[in-house]
Amino acid sequence: MVRHMDTIATLDIARIVSDIAEEMRGISDRGAVASYIPPLAQVSPDKFGIAVVMADGAAHVAGDADAAFSIQSISKVFALTQALGAVGDQLWQRVGREPSGSAFNSIVQLESEQGIPRNPFINAGAIVLCDVLLGRCEPREAIGQMLRFVRMLAGDDAGTIKIDETVALAEQDTGFRNMALANYMRAFSNIRAPVERVLGVYFHFCALAMTCRELAMAGRYLMDGGRVDGHSIVTANRARRINALMMSCGHYDNSGDFAFRVGLPGKSGVGGGILSVVPGVASIAVWSPGLNASGNSQLGTLALERLVQRTGWSVFEPRLR
Ligand code: GLN
Repeated sequence: MVRHMDTIATLDIARIVSDIAEEMRGISDRGAVASYIPPLAQVSPDKFGIAVVMADGAAHVAGDADAAFSIQSISKVFALTQALGAVGDQLWQRVGREPSGSAFNSIVQLESEQGIPRNPFINAGAIVLCDVLLGRCEPREAIGQMLRFVRMLAGDDAGTIKIDETVALAEQDTGFRNMALANYMRAFSNIRAPVERVLGVYFHFCALAMTCRELAMAGRYLMDGGRVDGHSIVTANRARRINALMMSCGHYDNSGDFAFRVGLPGKSGVGGGILSVVPGVASIAVWSPGLNASGNSQLGTLALERLVQRTGWSVFEPRLR
């Protein structure tokens, strides 16, 4: 348990990170690996990785932190950042900012809310983001821009971060619900480009493959008021708002429980990853493929809960200096 005389400097983060990986190794109740597409169903539930990148650049990793996994809905954070860059606050005429209280792929609210998704982090919301990003370009360009953006955020000069085409194709083959969401929103004129093109972009974003280390690196701008390595990616105000949305909406109908247990902005994906941010302190990625009933990583959430218990990093704790 954190002691309030602990400071960031005196906490032994490397030790805490390796202790957490060790504890996770011993847990057998790991949730269920996503089974809707073969490339995800084949991933071993035994995997666990954690990477903590500190504001001073130090990276602490343990377990399978250097194994690439499908980031899935975590890409919605990067899509939101890009869509806000493209159209600014006009985005909020087409996407809401409230928790949905429904599953990530639910269609029910779209009827009563006239095709305006509750928030950018459910599937319907992210499909609108893709339509915004397609605005003036070809799907291939929107996908290429996303890949370059994420590589830049992660400092991946070698271009190691890839889009897994097998995953993108499998998403396409099974994406009937996403097709329904997109067509339904098109009926309300909240999707403007042809639905197949919008979904092509959406499925490729879901198929981004990254390691915990790369993902934690890519989240640094949200930890540091919109900056990476001294360069401004977004304004401090925008970074703060994206963090607020991650806290309130980043775990679908489980967002309240995530705030209760972890108390940090976080975004999950059905590949079992979670990106979480301690403003001013650290950017964190965890990965364990087994999911809870809401489609969020079971051990990933537990690992973040442990990390916050040991460091006092919840945004609801008095901030350590
Ligand atoms: N590819 C998944 C879907 O569209 C992403 C959902 C998720 O990660 N929660 O259904």
